[in-house]
Amino acid sequence: MLEGHLPKTIDPRKLAKQHVSLKGGWPVADLEQVANYLTNPEGEVEVDLAFTQDAEGHFVISGQLVAQVQMTCQRCLEPVTLGVTVEVLLAVVWSDESGKQLPDYLDPIVVADEHLSLARLIDEELILNLPIVPAHEDPICQPQMEWLDPDAVDDSTISEQPKNPFAVLASLKKSKT
Ligand SMILES: [Zn+2]
Repeated sequence: MLEGHLPKTIDPRKLAKQHVSLKGGWPVADLEQVANYLTNPEGEVEVDLAFTQDAEGHFVISGQLVAQVQMTCQRCLEPVTLGVTVEVLLAVVWSDESGKQLPDYLDPIVVADEHLSLARLIDEELILNLPIVPAHEDPICQPQMEWLDPDAVDDSTISEQPKNPFAVLASLKKSKT
C-alpha cells in the first residue's frame, strides 16, 4: 500500500497485477474540469483506490473519492460547502471498442498506453458526481417546485383541474349510504 504521497502518473494495469492500493490527498485545484464549477478550489480529495485483476482478467479500479467542494447555492447565490462521495468501479480498457464488451457493473476508462494521469481519473469521476443544483441544506435554500406551492397557483386554472379522485370516491361513498 502506497500511502500519503500520490504519484501524478500511474500504470493502472501494472498496479492491478500487483494488487496495489493508493491512498492519500489530491488537491482540488489540480482538477481541471471540476475546478471550473467551484467558487473556491480549496482543499483536497481523499483518494482511496484499489487496483486488482478480476477472475475474467479485467483490470479493475475500485474505491472511494471523498471531497468537500465549495459551489454557489442556486437559491441564495451564496457559497455553499457540499460533501461529495464517489464510489469508483472502473475497468481499464485500451479503446472505446473494448469498453463496450465490459459487464454492466464495470464502467470503462480508456487508457491507450501505460500511463494514466491520476488527476484525470479523479477529475472525470468527481465531475460526474457534483450536485447538479447545489443548494444549502436549509429548507429555504432547497430547490422547490413552484407548482407545489399553493400560493403560486393562479386561481383561474383551478376550475380547469380534473376533480380530485379522492373527492369523487368520497361522494360515491356518500350516495351509497
Ligand atoms: Zn443557499
